[in-house]
Amino acid sequence: MAALQVGAVKEAAPGERRVALTPDAVPRLRNAGVDVLTEAGAGGSAWFPDEDYAQAGATVVDADTLFARADVVLCVNPPPPQRLRSGQAVVGLLQPLLNPQLMADLAARGVTAISLDGLPRTLSRAQGMDALSSQANIAGYKAVLVAADTFERFFPLLITAAGTSKPAAVLVLGAGVAGLQAIGTARRLGAVVRAYDVRPAAQDEVKSLGAQFIELKSVEAAAGEGGYARALTPEEQAAQQAELAEHIAKHDVVITTAQVPGRRPPLMVTADTVKSMRAGSVIVDMAASDLGGNVEISQPGQTIVTNNGVTVIGAGNLPAQMPTSASTAYSRNVTALLSHLLSDGRLSIDLDDEIQHGVVIAYDGSVVHEATAKLLEATP
Ligand code: NAD
Repeated sequence: MAALQVGAVKEAAPGERRVALTPDAVPRLRNAGVDVLTEAGAGGSAWFPDEDYAQAGATVVDADTLFARADVVLCVNPPPPQRLRSGQAVVGLLQPLLNPQLMADLAARGVTAISLDGLPRTLSRAQGMDALSSQANIAGYKAVLVAADTFERFFPLLITAAGTSKPAAVLVLGAGVAGLQAIGTARRLGAVVRAYDVRPAAQDEVKSLGAQFIELKSVEAAAGEGGYARALTPEEQAAQQAELAEHIAKHDVVITTAQVPGRRPPLMVTADTVKSMRAGSVIVDMAASDLGGNVEISQPGQTIVTNNGVTVIGAGNLPAQMPTSASTAYSRNVTALLSHLLSDGRLSIDLDDEIQHGVVIAYDGSVVHEATAKLLEATP
């Protein structure tokens, strides 16, 4: 029986510098009984040259050969569906809830679609596969560096012969994985950090990092399923925006990270609130997306300076701006998931398995992931 061929593609999305597989993962996959292909140049933008893959035991091929030969295509972002064929599997961050039609296309082509963003997050045996966490961790760190680079004052308290500079006051909204890393990073740079989240569990985590937790009087706790937040009602959201506005105006740097899975990100910072901030303040909206972000006036991938001198950065793909670390972590997540899916060197799909139930989106010609299937039913 010929060995399973697993191939990592060169990412095509603009600005995407990550790669799904790094050379250190090649021997691990080969030990699991599979052959590894990589597309020429796949790791180049993340500083992993083709020679390193070849030395590690991979076969470097062109794109056409890769898509023709691979039984399993590894990617970060989904490749164009027309490149994939029946019987093939694709493993990546496919964002099925934002892109249900693509999942239907893959199913119709007979492609097995496996998405790391469907992983159950609270399952401890799945932690090594948690790409949302590994990438959010990098994004949270990078968001602070971007903010510090844009903020035209020091972050730490500095006492020098030329005077004393006050520490920057940083507010982090949303204290999940990205928010907690942003808190830790801003603290390490010497800022005074406060944070807020609707999930009560976040409070202790924020405090354990040495930041102050802001409690809002007007909004009830809003923990949802699987450790995520639930969406707020319009009334709750308005109350949250109003109460947060007072806090935001007192901070120099605001980093927003709030997300509710499968929904547009909650709007937390209104245009009026931005107007109330001091000149020189910086906002990084990590939730900025085509669906909208946490900040009313942010635009994904763009930096705006308002008339009152506030710089609003609509963070684009922050993990792609640290592609070496991001790819290394992602590659470990992908290989851990792949090892879980392999049995005797073959992909073995079992939708009753809790991990697979979350990550397998399309299988055997249909969209099997319930939340994605529901979205497709609702689409006319
Ligand atoms: P996420 O990206 O979905 O959201 C980021 C944060 O925004 C969350 O903390 C959320 O509570 C918050 N948020 C959403 N709406 C908000 C609003 N209106 N106002 C304020 N805050 C709001 O979350 P995430 O970082 O992916 O983490 C999700 C959960 O998964 C967390 O509970 C995290 O602890 C958990 N998690 C668990 C494990 C594990 O147990 N192995 C691993 C990773 C994450």
